[in-house]
Amino acid sequence: MPHPILVIEDNAANRELLSSLLEAHGYGVIQATTAQSGIDLARSAAPQLILMDLSLPGMSGLEATRQLKSDPGTTHVPVIAVSAHAFDKDRAAAMAAGCCGFITKPIDTRRMIVEIAGILRTHRLEGTP
Ligand code: MN
Repeated sequence: MPHPILVIEDNAANRELLSSLLEAHGYGVIQATTAQSGIDLARSAAPQLILMDLSLPGMSGLEATRQLKSDPGTTHVPVIAVSAHAFDKDRAAAMAAGCCGFITKPIDTRRMIVEIAGILRTHRLEGTP
């Protein structure tokens, strides 16, 4: 069983949409509703990829990504930002925090699945664990 995808999203409707879409494409899914619980789950469950909502209550998705990237135990896990704010500066901030992809809300489901598959493929080709 491949490692799951971790969905960190506080909005229940978005979380369910993302999860059911991923499951329909054969991915296992685990969920978190806050940045801190997402970080904890990333450390314990070794997800193969993280979808990170950037607007979370308390700690932001950007800060959570920075923490994951500075932790040797999770730094290799690709993080894709999910945000309704899609200006160049938002995208640049996500990349600076360590995200390797950016998905805008409302979510283009077909495009999202293609982007996830591409990032996982690149990640495997790079030979990172
Ligand atoms: Mn949110």
